[in-house]
Amino acid sequence: MRRSASTPRATSPPATGKDSLISRYVATFVNRRDRYLTSGAETSWFSKKSRLTNRVLESALRGHISLGLYATAEDGMSRWMAIDCDDDSSARKILANAHLLPANSYLIERSRRGLHLVKLFDPAIPWQAAQRYGLAFAHKAGCDGVEVFPKNGTFSAIRAPMTPHPLTKRIYDWIDADGQILDPWDTLLALTPTPIPEHWLNEPPQPEPSREMHRELPGIFGQLDTGSLLPRGDHHELMFEVMKLTTMRYYSRNKARGLCPWHPDTRPSLAVVEGYFRCFSSHCGVNGGVLAWRKLARERGIMPR
Ligand SMILES: [Zn+2]
Repeated sequence: MRRSASTPRATSPPATGKDSLISRYVATFVNRRDRYLTSGAETSWFSKKSRLTNRVLESALRGHISLGLYATAEDGMSRWMAIDCDDDSSARKILANAHLLPANSYLIERSRRGLHLVKLFDPAIPWQAAQRYGLAFAHKAGCDGVEVFPKNGTFSAIRAPMTPHPLTKRIYDWIDADGQILDPWDTLLALTPTPIPEHWLNEPPQPEPSREMHRELPGIFGQLDTGSLLPRGDHHELMFEVMKLTTMRYYSRNKARGLCPWHPDTRPSLAVVEGYFRCFSSHCGVNGGVLAWRKLARERGIMPR
């Protein structure tokens, strides 16, 4: 299911088996087809009271139009709940807790800022149960206050997975809980919606007390800890320079990570370990020691103070 970060992004359904992929998409995500949201050339959503046909859907999946899907069907039932994190701190917490959900029963898609997490249910459940489940998951992850869908039993909607953002017109990657980019069509076929545990349909369980999550995302430091990433300069000197341009968070004495200032970063892609920095975004990838950092700052017009 994983693919290398350099593989071009698949933005439209593969020609082979296209119809069955679209059916799969509809069965997985579409709660109602009598209306949908779109944005046309505009940057804000509007509701379109016409049928969401496969043709409309395919146009959105090809990136031609924006598409918003309602979180609730006409009968008040939902096939999913979605969490919309628009800041990196809550996105990190959601990623760190995604393993609590049944494997393959959810997807994570990056967005303009942060990410969407969509947990799928089969059979469909009353929208209130979907909402309770979403709120409780957000609470458990330590992100009370993030947007949770369904917001109500009627017309709350979220951007359809694999379709362009109305503002940026970009289609965003699906990622796993480690932040690795997934092939969305392969992943769609592997998605397995699960029944909601029965107690959620009746009384909501008491949420556990919130606790701060300090887990680091797995992988990023491990990749830097190879011992062969020379030249290593003075860690504190590098951190001093780095923190003039971005906020970093320490995970141990000589490990820190934060938003990369050298590309539009939506998750903390920049790691600094023992005097060496590296951005793990496939589009950026800057790396080096303190001299390289200062050179970047000079070349890109951000002079250290
Ligand atoms: Zn970067």
